[in-house]
Amino acid sequence: MSRAKYDKHSVHAAEFINDAEIRDTLDYAVANKDNKSLLEEILRKAEEGNGISHREAAVLIEMEDKEIEERLYAIARKLKERIYGNRIVMFAPLYLSNYCINGCVYCPYHAINKTIPRRKLTQEEIRREVIALQDMGHKRLALETGEHPKLNPIEYVLESIDTIYSIHHKNGAIRRVNVNIAATTVENYTRLKDAGIGTYILFEETYDRETYEKLHPTGPKSDWAYHTEAMDRAMEGGIDDVGIGALFGISSYRYDLVGILMHAEHLEARFGVGPHTISVPRIRPADDIDPADFPNAVTDEVFRRIVAVLRVAVPYTGMIVSTRESKRSRELVLDVGVSQLSGGSRTSVGGYAEGIEDAEESAQFDISDNRTLDEIVEWLLDLGYIPSFCTACYREGRTGDRFMSLAKRGLIGNCCAPNALMTLAEYIEDYASPQVKLKGKQMIARLTEVIPSEKVRRITQSNLEEIVKGKRDFRF
Ligand code: SF4
Ligand code: SF4
Repeated sequence: MSRAKYDKHSVHAAEFINDAEIRDTLDYAVANKDNKSLLEEILRKAEEGNGISHREAAVLIEMEDKEIEERLYAIARKLKERIYGNRIVMFAPLYLSNYCINGCVYCPYHAINKTIPRRKLTQEEIRREVIALQDMGHKRLALETGEHPKLNPIEYVLESIDTIYSIHHKNGAIRRVNVNIAATTVENYTRLKDAGIGTYILFEETYDRETYEKLHPTGPKSDWAYHTEAMDRAMEGGIDDVGIGALFGISSYRYDLVGILMHAEHLEARFGVGPHTISVPRIRPADDIDPADFPNAVTDEVFRRIVAVLRVAVPYTGMIVSTRESKRSRELVLDVGVSQLSGGSRTSVGGYAEGIEDAEESAQFDISDNRTLDEIVEWLLDLGYIPSFCTACYREGRTGDRFMSLAKRGLIGNCCAPNALMTLAEYIEDYASPQVKLKGKQMIARLTEVIPSEKVRRITQSNLEEIVKGKRDFRF
């Protein structure tokens, strides 16, 4: 077999996620982990806020110097504050169907699991789920479905998206639907784009092809190259916000961290815009899945380092953690880079509405953070963060390179802060418990006062008054 050459501009997965380059990078990192002057240089570059390369990131993951580690966390924290302020965007997953023809060994939805109940939501059940989500206060969803061309065809996903956007229960509305479905064709990506999706999300699981092929023995997903080139097809199909990620713990985290960054560098090189988000799930227990079978499991300390390194490597990319993570580990990573959280999540098919049959037993993985959305909002307020339900960029057409160019010029923050305050105000009026209402109102009053532009402050104040009177959906 001829050895593929590394080329970040290539259309071939084996060239842009190049195994030889990743292994060379990991050797380079081991050889340089104590190289103080190189570490200093990388930190200096990280501090400038224009990102660092996958090689430099690999050295930061490998180094053992405690003092450098603390400085890395301080830089990650500073960059996060500069770009995202103290806002945390909230979302919830919505599982449509757990029918799946793939054989992913770490996921209980794999085709040969005969013990898990299989469910596919009807449009009426989706309506009930969405009403339950709206009644919690959610505005942003991530749709999840197994891969099953007969039972979950693209038409089912498109119809479900239409259903979700059409529901307006009381003051509720789902304003952005992100979609996490199996790798598909350029034509299907265009159809998703036309249906008005926000981000197309697909995790690589592991970038290590050999391990990938072992963990995906059957089904269409076993084709590593087709899966790895999915984001290229999504972008060719017109989707300009894509979300990548790896399932940390199923393979070497060092390899996967470098893989994620090479994927980001490739998308930037080929399309002029990197990923909109990076997700950092970790392997969790689930029906017929025992994490003890995965010896590469990542500790909380390593997990925190991974998040900090990603934050300095790709400062303008949103970073997401799910309710797979406990309250404690979420606090650790919020501090050094995470900008989006799920809350009040159910990872089962039909888990939000009352009385959908077998819903409980159909979960994809166990949740570590079982708090309600209101409890999560209160916890964020107590930590000094603003829980944000903002979806403005996508609805104002600020996506892809338009979004990135605003973000890189430091201009997006002018929109994010007032939008966060206004969407939090909507949450407080419509869904919050009395103590969250009190805490939220105090934060909104305090932070509205310090909006730097007088004009924006004035408009925000007037919109906040309108929200109290019952008007909704203001945005910058
Ligand atoms: Fe199916 Fe996705 Fe689970 Fe794999 S990870 S078995 S593709 S639902
Ligand atoms: Fe996100 Fe845009 Fe809203 Fe800022 S203004 S929180 S970048 S959607």
